[in-house]
Amino acid sequence: MNTCPLCESDKNELLYTNSRGNKYLENYVCCNCGFVYTWPRISNQEVERLYSDGDFSKEARKSSVPDLAKFKQTEQYALERIHHLETKIPDFFSKVHSCVEIGCGAGSFLWLLKSRGQKVLGIEPDVDYVQVVKKRYKIPIETVMFQDYDNTELFDFICNFHVIEHIINPRAFVKEIYNRLKDEGFLYIECPTIDNIYTGSLDTFFWDVHVNTFSNNTLPWLLESEGFSIKEIFMNRGFVSIIAKKGTQVKFKSDDKDRIIGIVKSFAPKPKKISFSKRIETKIKNVIKSVLE
Ligand SMILES: [Zn+2]
Repeated sequence: MNTCPLCESDKNELLYTNSRGNKYLENYVCCNCGFVYTWPRISNQEVERLYSDGDFSKEARKSSVPDLAKFKQTEQYALERIHHLETKIPDFFSKVHSCVEIGCGAGSFLWLLKSRGQKVLGIEPDVDYVQVVKKRYKIPIETVMFQDYDNTELFDFICNFHVIEHIINPRAFVKEIYNRLKDEGFLYIECPTIDNIYTGSLDTFFWDVHVNTFSNNTLPWLLESEGFSIKEIFMNRGFVSIIAKKGTQVKFKSDDKDRIIGIVKSFAPKPKKISFSKRIETKIKNVIKSVLE
Protein backbone atom coordinates (compact mmCIF):
# COMPACT_ATOMS: atom_id res chain seq x y z
CA MET A 1 0.00 0.00 0.00
CA ASN A 2 1.15 3.55 -0.77
CA THR A 3 2.05 4.91 2.67
CA CYS A 4 4.28 7.81 3.65
CA PRO A 5 7.84 6.65 4.57
CA LEU A 6 7.97 9.27 7.35
CA CYS A 7 4.55 9.19 9.05
CA GLU A 8 2.92 6.06 7.55
CA SER A 9 -0.24 7.94 6.56
CA ASP A 10 -2.00 6.46 3.52
CA LYS A 11 -3.54 9.84 2.56
CA ASN A 12 -1.59 11.31 -0.32
CA GLU A 13 -1.89 13.15 -3.60
CA LEU A 14 -0.06 12.51 -6.83
CA LEU A 15 2.26 15.50 -7.19
CA TYR A 16 4.26 15.05 -10.40
CA THR A 17 4.87 12.30 -12.97
CA ASN A 18 7.88 13.33 -15.03
CA SER A 19 11.54 13.07 -14.06
CA ARG A 20 15.12 13.38 -15.27
CA GLY A 21 15.71 11.68 -18.60
CA ASN A 22 12.02 12.19 -19.44
CA LYS A 23 11.14 9.08 -17.42
CA TYR A 24 7.66 8.52 -16.02
CA LEU A 25 7.94 8.64 -12.21
CA GLU A 26 5.19 9.04 -9.65
CA ASN A 27 6.02 11.46 -6.85
CA TYR A 28 3.39 11.81 -4.12
CA VAL A 29 2.90 14.37 -1.37
CA CYS A 30 1.71 13.09 2.01
CA CYS A 31 -1.49 14.86 3.14
CA ASN A 32 -0.49 14.42 6.77
CA CYS A 33 3.16 15.59 6.89
CA GLY A 34 3.86 17.13 3.47
CA PHE A 35 6.70 14.73 2.68
CA VAL A 36 7.32 14.04 -1.02
CA TYR A 37 8.26 10.51 -2.05
CA THR A 38 8.21 8.17 -5.03
CA TRP A 39 5.83 5.27 -5.23
CA PRO A 40 6.20 2.35 -5.79
CA ARG A 41 9.41 2.06 -3.74
CA ILE A 42 12.19 -0.14 -5.08
CA SER A 43 13.39 -2.92 -2.77
CA ASN A 44 16.43 -2.64 -0.49
CA GLN A 45 18.13 -5.34 -2.60
CA GLU A 46 17.68 -3.27 -5.76
CA VAL A 47 19.10 -0.23 -3.97
CA GLU A 48 22.11 -2.21 -2.80
CA ARG A 49 22.75 -3.50 -6.32
CA LEU A 50 22.42 0.01 -7.80
CA TYR A 51 25.04 1.52 -5.48
CA SER A 52 27.42 -1.46 -5.25
CA ASP A 53 27.99 -2.45 -8.86
CA GLY A 54 28.93 0.96 -10.28
CA ASP A 55 25.72 1.77 -12.17
CA PHE A 56 24.99 4.75 -9.96
CA SER A 57 28.55 6.13 -10.21
CA LYS A 58 28.45 5.85 -14.00
CA GLU A 59 25.17 7.72 -14.26
CA ALA A 60 25.13 10.23 -11.41
CA ARG A 61 28.84 10.70 -10.77
CA LYS A 62 29.41 10.69 -14.56
CA SER A 63 32.21 8.13 -14.35
CA SER A 64 32.74 4.67 -12.84
CA VAL A 65 35.83 6.02 -11.03
CA PRO A 66 36.71 9.61 -10.02
CA ASP A 67 39.17 11.50 -12.27
CA LEU A 68 41.31 14.54 -11.42
CA ALA A 69 38.56 17.02 -12.36
CA LYS A 70 36.14 15.23 -10.03
CA PHE A 71 38.65 15.29 -7.15
CA LYS A 72 39.27 19.01 -7.70
CA GLN A 73 35.54 19.70 -7.58
CA THR A 74 34.87 17.56 -4.49
CA GLU A 75 37.89 19.09 -2.71
CA GLN A 76 36.40 22.54 -3.27
CA TYR A 77 33.03 21.40 -1.88
CA ALA A 78 34.80 19.76 1.07
CA LEU A 79 36.67 22.98 1.89
CA GLU A 80 33.38 24.88 1.93
CA ARG A 81 31.83 22.33 4.30
CA ILE A 82 34.81 22.50 6.66
CA HIS A 83 34.38 26.27 6.64
CA HIS A 84 30.67 25.93 7.54
CA LEU A 85 31.54 23.56 10.39
CA GLU A 86 34.23 25.84 11.81
CA THR A 87 32.17 29.02 11.63
CA LYS A 88 28.93 27.49 12.95
CA ILE A 89 30.47 25.17 15.59
CA PRO A 90 33.65 27.03 16.71
CA ASP A 91 34.74 24.32 19.17
CA PHE A 92 34.16 21.51 16.63
CA PHE A 93 37.79 20.47 16.23
CA SER A 94 38.50 20.53 19.94
CA LYS A 95 35.48 18.32 20.70
CA VAL A 96 35.47 15.89 17.79
CA HIS A 97 38.03 13.13 17.27
CA SER A 98 36.35 10.35 15.27
CA CYS A 99 34.40 10.93 12.08
CA VAL A 100 32.43 8.72 9.74
CA GLU A 101 30.97 9.75 6.40
CA ILE A 102 28.16 7.62 4.97
CA GLY A 103 28.36 7.49 1.17
CA CYS A 104 31.77 9.18 1.15
CA GLY A 105 32.10 9.13 -2.67
CA ALA A 106 35.41 10.72 -3.68
CA GLY A 107 36.43 10.93 0.01
CA SER A 108 37.64 14.54 -0.11
CA PHE A 109 35.79 15.66 3.03
CA LEU A 110 37.28 12.81 5.10
CA TRP A 111 40.72 13.56 3.71
CA LEU A 112 40.43 17.18 4.92
CA LEU A 113 39.18 16.02 8.34
CA LYS A 114 42.13 13.62 8.55
CA SER A 115 44.54 16.44 7.71
CA ARG A 116 43.06 18.23 10.76
CA GLY A 117 44.01 15.34 13.03
CA GLN A 118 40.73 13.43 12.95
CA LYS A 119 40.36 9.65 12.93
CA VAL A 120 38.19 9.04 9.86
CA LEU A 121 36.18 6.25 8.30
CA GLY A 122 34.26 6.18 5.04
CA ILE A 123 31.28 3.98 4.20
CA GLU A 124 30.84 3.58 0.45
CA PRO A 125 29.42 0.51 -1.30
CA ASP A 126 30.97 1.05 -4.78
CA VAL A 127 34.14 -1.12 -4.74
CA ASP A 128 35.70 0.23 -7.99
CA TYR A 129 35.16 3.83 -6.96
CA VAL A 130 36.63 3.22 -3.52
CA GLN A 131 39.82 1.66 -4.91
CA VAL A 132 40.78 4.92 -6.67
CA VAL A 133 39.83 7.03 -3.63
CA LYS A 134 41.93 4.92 -1.25
CA LYS A 135 44.91 5.27 -3.57
CA ARG A 136 44.69 9.07 -3.62
CA TYR A 137 43.89 9.82 0.02
CA LYS A 138 45.03 6.73 1.99
CA ILE A 139 41.86 6.76 4.10
CA PRO A 140 40.03 3.69 5.45
CA ILE A 141 36.75 2.96 3.65
CA GLU A 142 34.32 0.10 4.29
CA THR A 143 32.65 -1.06 1.07
CA VAL A 144 29.24 -1.86 2.57
CA MET A 145 25.81 -0.28 2.89
CA PHE A 146 25.60 1.69 6.15
CA GLN A 147 22.94 -0.58 7.65
CA ASP A 148 25.26 -3.58 7.06
CA TYR A 149 28.30 -1.98 8.70
CA ASP A 150 28.80 -4.42 11.52
CA ASN A 151 30.57 -2.52 14.27
CA THR A 152 29.57 -1.29 17.71
CA GLU A 153 31.98 1.67 17.75
CA LEU A 154 30.40 5.05 18.54
CA PHE A 155 31.52 8.20 16.73
CA ASP A 156 31.89 11.90 17.61
CA PHE A 157 30.73 12.98 14.18
CA ILE A 158 28.60 11.38 11.46
CA CYS A 159 28.00 13.13 8.17
CA ASN A 160 26.34 12.37 4.87
CA PHE A 161 25.93 14.61 1.85
CA HIS A 162 23.38 13.80 -0.85
CA VAL A 163 22.63 10.37 0.56
CA ILE A 164 19.33 10.50 2.50
CA GLU A 165 17.30 11.34 -0.62
CA HIS A 166 18.32 7.89 -1.95
CA ILE A 167 17.40 5.87 1.15
CA ILE A 168 14.26 3.69 1.00
CA ASN A 169 13.58 4.02 4.74
CA PRO A 170 14.92 7.44 5.79
CA ARG A 171 13.50 7.19 9.32
CA ALA A 172 15.39 3.93 9.97
CA PHE A 173 18.51 5.58 8.51
CA VAL A 174 18.26 8.50 10.98
CA LYS A 175 17.64 6.07 13.88
CA GLU A 176 20.78 4.14 12.89
CA ILE A 177 22.84 7.36 12.85
CA TYR A 178 21.47 8.26 16.29
CA ASN A 179 22.48 4.86 17.67
CA ARG A 180 26.03 5.14 16.35
CA LEU A 181 26.64 8.67 17.58
CA LYS A 182 28.12 9.52 20.99
CA ASP A 183 25.87 11.57 23.31
CA GLU A 184 27.83 14.77 22.63
CA GLY A 185 28.37 13.95 18.96
CA PHE A 186 27.38 15.94 15.88
CA LEU A 187 25.42 15.03 12.77
CA TYR A 188 25.99 17.02 9.56
CA ILE A 189 23.63 16.32 6.68
CA GLU A 190 22.93 17.92 3.29
CA CYS A 191 20.41 17.09 0.56
CA PRO A 192 18.18 18.66 -2.10
CA THR A 193 15.09 20.52 -0.88
CA ILE A 194 11.81 21.22 -2.62
CA ASP A 195 12.20 24.77 -1.30
CA ASN A 196 14.81 25.28 -3.99
CA ILE A 197 14.31 23.53 -7.35
CA TYR A 198 18.08 23.52 -7.87
CA THR A 199 17.99 22.41 -11.50
CA GLY A 200 15.50 25.15 -12.36
CA SER A 201 13.02 22.60 -13.73
CA LEU A 202 10.84 19.95 -12.11
CA ASP A 203 11.58 17.67 -15.08
CA THR A 204 15.20 17.34 -13.96
CA PHE A 205 14.73 18.06 -10.24
CA PHE A 206 12.68 14.88 -9.82
CA TRP A 207 14.90 11.88 -10.53
CA ASP A 208 14.18 8.17 -10.10
CA VAL A 209 17.17 7.61 -7.79
CA HIS A 210 15.87 10.35 -5.46
CA VAL A 211 13.14 8.34 -3.76
CA ASN A 212 12.71 11.08 -1.11
CA THR A 213 12.31 14.82 -1.56
CA PHE A 214 12.70 16.71 1.71
CA SER A 215 11.73 20.31 2.39
CA ASN A 216 13.25 22.84 4.78
CA ASN A 217 10.58 21.64 7.24
CA THR A 218 10.37 17.87 6.78
CA LEU A 219 14.12 17.24 7.17
CA PRO A 220 14.57 19.05 10.53
CA TRP A 221 11.19 17.69 11.69
CA LEU A 222 12.33 14.10 10.94
CA LEU A 223 15.62 14.64 12.80
CA GLU A 224 13.87 16.14 15.83
CA SER A 225 11.34 13.33 15.94
CA GLU A 226 14.26 10.86 16.14
CA GLY A 227 15.93 12.59 19.09
CA PHE A 228 18.10 15.24 17.47
CA SER A 229 18.11 18.94 18.23
CA ILE A 230 18.88 21.28 15.33
CA LYS A 231 21.92 23.49 15.94
CA GLU A 232 22.12 25.07 12.49
CA ILE A 233 20.01 24.94 9.33
CA PHE A 234 21.31 26.76 6.26
CA MET A 235 21.52 26.59 2.49
CA ASN A 236 24.74 25.52 0.78
CA ARG A 237 25.06 25.63 -3.02
CA GLY A 238 21.27 25.51 -3.26
CA PHE A 239 20.84 22.50 -0.94
CA VAL A 240 19.56 22.33 2.62
CA SER A 241 22.18 21.62 5.30
CA ILE A 242 21.72 20.80 8.96
CA ILE A 243 24.11 20.42 11.86
CA ALA A 244 22.42 18.63 14.77
CA LYS A 245 23.18 17.09 18.16
CA LYS A 246 21.27 14.68 20.34
CA GLY A 247 18.65 16.57 22.32
CA THR A 248 14.97 17.10 22.98
CA GLN A 249 14.45 20.65 21.79
CA VAL A 250 11.56 20.77 19.29
CA LYS A 251 11.36 23.75 16.93
CA PHE A 252 10.11 22.32 13.64
CA LYS A 253 6.72 21.11 12.47
CA SER A 254 6.01 18.78 9.59
CA ASP A 255 5.12 20.41 6.27
CA ASP A 256 1.84 21.46 4.73
CA LYS A 257 0.63 19.55 1.67
CA ASP A 258 -0.86 22.69 0.09
CA ARG A 259 2.39 24.63 0.47
CA ILE A 260 4.23 21.83 -1.38
CA ILE A 261 1.60 21.67 -4.13
CA GLY A 262 1.92 25.47 -4.44
CA ILE A 263 5.69 25.20 -5.01
CA VAL A 264 5.23 22.53 -7.66
CA LYS A 265 2.45 24.48 -9.40
CA SER A 266 4.63 27.58 -9.57
CA PHE A 267 7.33 25.53 -11.32
CA ALA A 268 5.13 23.37 -13.52
CA PRO A 269 5.98 23.88 -17.19
CA LYS A 270 3.62 26.10 -19.17
CA PRO A 271 4.58 25.11 -22.73
CA LYS A 272 2.04 27.17 -24.70
CA LYS A 273 2.84 30.41 -22.93
CA ILE A 274 6.56 29.85 -23.35
CA SER A 275 6.38 29.15 -27.07
CA PHE A 276 4.16 32.23 -27.55
CA SER A 277 6.57 34.51 -25.72
CA LYS A 278 9.49 32.95 -27.60
CA ARG A 279 7.77 33.89 -30.87
CA ILE A 280 7.27 37.46 -29.67
CA GLU A 281 10.87 37.59 -28.50
CA THR A 282 12.11 36.48 -31.92
CA LYS A 283 9.84 39.06 -33.63
CA ILE A 284 11.14 41.88 -31.43
CA LYS A 285 14.73 40.81 -32.05
CA ASN A 286 14.09 40.81 -35.81
CA VAL A 287 12.51 44.30 -35.67
CA ILE A 288 15.46 45.66 -33.68
CA LYS A 289 17.84 44.01 -36.09
CA SER A 290 16.11 45.53 -39.10
CA VAL A 291 16.07 49.01 -37.48
CA LEU A 292 19.79 48.77 -36.69
CA GLU A 293 20.58 47.63 -40.18
ZN1 LIG B 1 3.67 11.68 5.97
